[in-house]
Amino acid sequence: PNANLFAALRAAFPSDLDAIAVETDDGLYYSWRDLDRASAMIANLFDALGLKAGDRIAVQVEKSVEAMMLYLATLRAGYVFLPLNTAYRAGEIEYFIGNAEPAVVVCSSANADWVAPLAIAAGTQHVFTLDDDRKGTLLEVAAQCSDQHKVAQKKPDDLAAILYTSGTTGRSKGAMLTHRNLQSNAEVLKDYWGWRPGADVLIHALPIFHVHGLFVAIHGALISGSRMIWLSRFDPKRVVARLPDATVFMGVPTLYTRLLAEPTLTREICNGMRLFISGSAPLLLETFEAWRERTGHTILERYGMSETVMLTSNPYSSVQGERRGGTVGFPLPGVQLRVRNDAGEPCVAGEIGHIEVAGPNVFAGYWRMPEKTREEFTDDGYFKTGDVGQVDGLGYVTIVGRSKDLIISGGYNVYPAEIEGYINELAGVAESALIGVPHPDFGEVGVAIVTPKPGAALDGEAIVAELKGRLANFKVPKRCFVVPELPRNAMGKVQKALLREQHKSLFK
Ligand code: ATP
Ligand code: MG
Repeated sequence: PNANLFAALRAAFPSDLDAIAVETDDGLYYSWRDLDRASAMIANLFDALGLKAGDRIAVQVEKSVEAMMLYLATLRAGYVFLPLNTAYRAGEIEYFIGNAEPAVVVCSSANADWVAPLAIAAGTQHVFTLDDDRKGTLLEVAAQCSDQHKVAQKKPDDLAAILYTSGTTGRSKGAMLTHRNLQSNAEVLKDYWGWRPGADVLIHALPIFHVHGLFVAIHGALISGSRMIWLSRFDPKRVVARLPDATVFMGVPTLYTRLLAEPTLTREICNGMRLFISGSAPLLLETFEAWRERTGHTILERYGMSETVMLTSNPYSSVQGERRGGTVGFPLPGVQLRVRNDAGEPCVAGEIGHIEVAGPNVFAGYWRMPEKTREEFTDDGYFKTGDVGQVDGLGYVTIVGRSKDLIISGGYNVYPAEIEGYINELAGVAESALIGVPHPDFGEVGVAIVTPKPGAALDGEAIVAELKGRLANFKVPKRCFVVPELPRNAMGKVQKALLREQHKSLFK
């Protein structure tokens, strides 16, 4: 048997290869045969370059169906796919390419003048371009290759991809993912979320350099032989307009809040939808409730990360339980998840501690960081996620923050998510972020950064005063700043490290 993930995806293609696999929002149609042929041609191109097993193919291109074909071709030919955030500029690309030492770099032609020299300086032998309008040297050369290709033989532990983490807590790390990691997770999600081969249609509106859009969304559709409606970028109006043609949508929380701001989003337009999924960052309870109110659908929130693909999910079917807002649901089949306190003892139900996980989905380690890899695994082989949370008596997992964002104030633990929950309930507050800031007496104190709802006037001091009546003193933020927007990265994650940096001298 061949453990190559591509073989599993290919086996799930419908028997009618002329059926539509991908439809772009600007009117292009790709059949399953197109995906098969194009991935074969690009795979043949890579084979002709004489690459070695394990060679990395680094890709920084705008989102397009061809960019997905490039991913499929990399799997098919047995090399290691390494996607890079399209927002990265020279300083970042130099670091990532220097760190990854890819044999091949594919970039957009607009960036080739600065990416190519960086790649060549790092030892890359082949630089191709690929644009979002089907132009570029990659496809020009691939057009001369055969459209027949035998899928490369792979073992379960062979690397399929290196995914750099989002860099929310510090410098991005390259998570090495194997064919087994990706395939086991894709198959689990196919069952857990009730994908219906041939009957589902996914609206794909996420970037494809990240675990959410690249693995959860693309694998989900392909391994169930389902069609995708492909949006090259998220546009709330276009998403709403396409809802009647679709059954599944995946988004980060900010996409849901932007969709809610669209007056065209109604219960009727969502009639044919089967499932709305959210992840990558915490979904506010308010958004969860507003969505249910407006559309009649209950968002299914799930939790995962670059290093592990998906770990937990709220139930799909009511037989398993209800979807609970504010929680990320149950560990997926095959995932072992435990919570331990600072002393390393198992937490009881409802007790907050460090989340550790094991399973066939857990990555092979950080690329060229053996030390860091060792540090982040326990002696009995669990990966320390860096997230802090709890499991309740029924088994629902709740994330309360990241261990790096934990605030220890005068010796007491302050969990940002708890305080943010209180702040978000105050009149006029849209969102909040609680950060720890160095303090001469308490070591650290909480500082709240708050954004107002449209039209609301907020006063930081009044917010602090209100919280004093509701929370133990050590939990009350010492200061509160009102800002128009929280800084977020491409995946909608609040950049607390940046906020901490901005406020680090507040009490000095
Ligand atoms: P870095 O590891 O570089 O600091 P990152 O952890 O943000 O960045 P990713 O792997 O993209 O990089 O994100 C995984 C993290 O996203 C998880 O560890 C968790 O903190 C957060 N996350 C994902 N889904 C959810 C969710 N549903 N609710 C809350 N947090 C989530
Ligand atoms: Mg992380």
